[in-house]
Amino acid sequence: MGNYEIFLQPLGSSASFFALFCLLFSGFCVLKEKTLKLPIIFLLGGFLFDFFAVWVEAKAVESQNDSVALWVMFEMILFLFAMFFMSLAASAFVSPNSKFSLKSYSPAFLLGGLGLVSVVLFTIIIPDGEIINKLRIILPTASFIYLAVGFGSKLKSDFRMGATLALILSLAVAADITLKFFNIFSPWYMSIIFYIAFSLSFLLMCNDTLRLTLSKAQQEITKYNQKIEEIIKLSPFPIVISRLGDNKIILANDNAIKTFNMSQDNVSNYCLHDFFADSHNKQQLLELLEERHEVQDFEVLIKTPQNDAPFWLLTSANIIDYNNDVAIYAAFQDITSRKARENVLQNQATRDPLTGLYNRRYFETEVAKKIAQAKSNNTSYSVLMLDADFFKKVNDTYGHKIGDKVLIELSSKTEKALRDCDIVARYGGEEFLVFLPNINDEQAYKVADRLRQTISEIVVLTETGKEVRFTVSIGVTSSLISDNIDTLIKTADEALYKAKQNGRNRVEVFTLADLQNFLNDGGSQVQDENKNIHPVFASENNAEISLLDGADTQSLRE
Ligand code: GH3
Ligand code: MG
Ligand code: MG
Repeated sequence: MGNYEIFLQPLGSSASFFALFCLLFSGFCVLKEKTLKLPIIFLLGGFLFDFFAVWVEAKAVESQNDSVALWVMFEMILFLFAMFFMSLAASAFVSPNSKFSLKSYSPAFLLGGLGLVSVVLFTIIIPDGEIINKLRIILPTASFIYLAVGFGSKLKSDFRMGATLALILSLAVAADITLKFFNIFSPWYMSIIFYIAFSLSFLLMCNDTLRLTLSKAQQEITKYNQKIEEIIKLSPFPIVISRLGDNKIILANDNAIKTFNMSQDNVSNYCLHDFFADSHNKQQLLELLEERHEVQDFEVLIKTPQNDAPFWLLTSANIIDYNNDVAIYAAFQDITSRKARENVLQNQATRDPLTGLYNRRYFETEVAKKIAQAKSNNTSYSVLMLDADFFKKVNDTYGHKIGDKVLIELSSKTEKALRDCDIVARYGGEEFLVFLPNINDEQAYKVADRLRQTISEIVVLTETGKEVRFTVSIGVTSSLISDNIDTLIKTADEALYKAKQNGRNRVEVFTLADLQNFLNDGGSQVQDENKNIHPVFASENNAEISLLDGADTQSLRE
């Protein structure tokens, strides 16, 4: 398609080579598309032969000696190849499948054969410069027209934009060459324009290819999403897909809609985050997901939009691509009954069955932790020990059942009278321990006395309607005395003993002066056996006595 004059211009050769490079590069980009691979390879081959044929033509014109005939022969061979390869490209475009078949390639072989005969005839057998000049026009014109037919066959394909431009260009090149018949020569730079324009048509084909790949990928995604949706729908577990960006729920199966109490019609209005009842629990799950992109068997506390009682679910979640979004896929399992069982076991291990208060073991371990905390924060704390006065008499007079009722009532009123952060435990029999954080001995005395007063106002009715009243004595100790849980219990007990000694229904504080005596005595652990052993120590190893042990304490509290 070129004019040999371009190689006679100062910058023409380099501009030509550059345009050829663009053409080859854009052509290579199209090779990714399977159906275009073979025709484009033939076409690039044809363009290359054509380019060098023109270059050799320029050499032939330049050479003023005997070698002209050789150059011309070389040029004609290249023209022949260019024409043959372009015809092959046209046949490959026209061929309905990308495989070689003699039938669809026959026009290419016919054109190639005719070209070969005429070149051999007019350059070797009867050399004729005039006819050779005509062949320079006829051969490429024929091949570009056939090429236009090839591109025309692709007008209805997926690469119609690139094919249309290439078709127009092929016809334009054919017309441009034909004009030479009438001695109308196009400007020397015309081939550069054609090369660049063909590059453009290849790029358009690339664009079409990309568009096609993208739409295929989109189809795959849609298919994949449909499959996911089906699996999710059929799952016996609640499953939710929620967009990571705005947390909105994209998909929820019927089980999830029921479990989370969502309204069926506007599932997409809900945010997954809104269903977490505990923000710390939610944060933990999200951090794990961010770190590992997958979480297995994580317990989450869930609340519904209607603010029903929160419940526990077990979830396995991971980050997925869904509908062009990054999303959380979460499957859930109801573990309410398992959690309830765990709670029962936990309560059995930490609670006293009669009163529902914490037991001694729990009190000791928990308070040891709180003491360590208070020490690091440099805050004070106090410990109270309560003992019901003349409780044996209550039992003897009204029976053990009423005795139990009294203990339950006493426990419940004590818990209610104190702060949430205070820890109340049943130490044994009719003795109770209280840990008061952030309270010194003076404040603790006031709290204890108020508590004593509150308890003295409790009235328990017997089955016959008789009123039973009772009092407690309280011993107080504090962080001023010790930071050891055993010593605190023992010194509180010492103070309680003092309260009993001083007439009961009263509060006594274990002071620093008491501590001196206590230490001189070697602590109450080494008390003389002849001395009056404090009732708490005496009963320390006794089993708790309760007629209602293990009974439903809640009903008695009510
Ligand atoms: P004090 O004022 O000196 O403390 O006299 P007290 O009668 O309260 O003391 P004592 O230690 O002599 O008697 C405690 C009684 O508490 C004895 C025991 O039968 C009773 N008791 C201990 N645990 C329970 C229980 O769980 N239920 C009932 N009903 N009575 C219990
Ligand atoms: Mg007692
Ligand atoms: Mg006692």
